[in-house]
Amino acid sequence: QHHELVIDSLRVHYRNTLALDDVSFATSCGNRVALVGPNGAGKSTLLKAIAGLVPRSAGSIRWRGAAVKKWSREFAYLPQREEVDWSFPITVRGLVEMGRYPQTGLFGRFRAEDDAAVDKALASLDLVDLQHRQIRELSGGQQQRAFLARALAQEAHVLLLDEPFTGLDRNASKQLGELLERLSHEGRLVIASHHDLNSAPRLFDEALLLKTRPISFGAASEVLSPKN
Ligand code: ADP
Ligand code: ADP
Repeated sequence: QHHELVIDSLRVHYRNTLALDDVSFATSCGNRVALVGPNGAGKSTLLKAIAGLVPRSAGSIRWRGAAVKKWSREFAYLPQREEVDWSFPITVRGLVEMGRYPQTGLFGRFRAEDDAAVDKALASLDLVDLQHRQIRELSGGQQQRAFLARALAQEAHVLLLDEPFTGLDRNASKQLGELLERLSHEGRLVIASHHDLNSAPRLFDEALLLKTRPISFGAASEVLSPKN
C-alpha cells in the first residue's frame, strides 16, 4: 500500500540522550494520528524531527515519494502553548501572513495572491472578525485557530501539533476536535501529541504509542484499547 508520509528508522539524539530510536510508520492525508506515550517518550521530538526543527541522527522521511531533507513547506509545526511567547505583539492577520513567507521569501513582496490566501485561511477558520485583534487577547481556542490558519496560508498538508488540546475548556476542545476532523477530511494529515488516552480514540483515527521506540501503531481504538 502506498502512503503519502513514510517515516523510516528515525533516530534522534540530544547530546547524551537518545530521544527517538528506530521509529517507523506510514500514513496519509485524511488521517488524524495521535502520538501517545509517557512524559519524555519523544512525542515532541518526533513532531520537531518531522518538521525539520531538530536534526535526525539516522533514518529518512518521505513525503509523496520524495525524500525530505530538512524543512518542507508541506509541513507546519504548531508549538506547545508553553513554548509560545504570548507577549509578542502581533495581530491574528499578522500571524497568518507569516504563513506566506515561504512563498514570498522573507524580503519578498506581498502579492495580491498572498492576501487572497490569507483571507481564505482566515475565513476557513472563522477568524475574519478577529483578524485585527492581538493574539494575546484571544482565548486559547481562538489562538489555536489562528496558528492553524497560519498553516493553511502556508498551504501545508501535514499539520504537526504539539498537545493542541491542553489547556482548552470543554467547549473549545470540542470545537478543535471538529475542526481537526474537518481539516483531515479536506485532505490534510494531522499528527498530534496527546496525553489523554481516554479522549484519543474519539479525536484521532490512528495512534502511535511511543516510548523512545515505537510500541505499537494502528487504528487508535486498537492501539489504545484497555487490553493493550
Ligand atoms: P515527550 O514530548 O514525549 O514528553 P520529548 O520529545 O520532549 O518527550 O523528550 C524526549 C527526551 O528527549 C526526554 O528524555 C527529554 O528530556 C529529551 N529532550 C527533549 N528536548 C531536549 C533538548 N532540547 N535537549 C536535550 N534533551 C532533550
Ligand atoms: P514536553 O515533553 O511536553 O514537550 P518537556 O518538559 O519535555 O515537555 O520539554 C519542554 C521543553 O524543554 C521543550 O522545548 C524541550 O525540547 C525542552 N527539554 C526537555 N527536556 C530537556 C533536556 N533534558 N534538556 C534540555 N531541554 C529539554
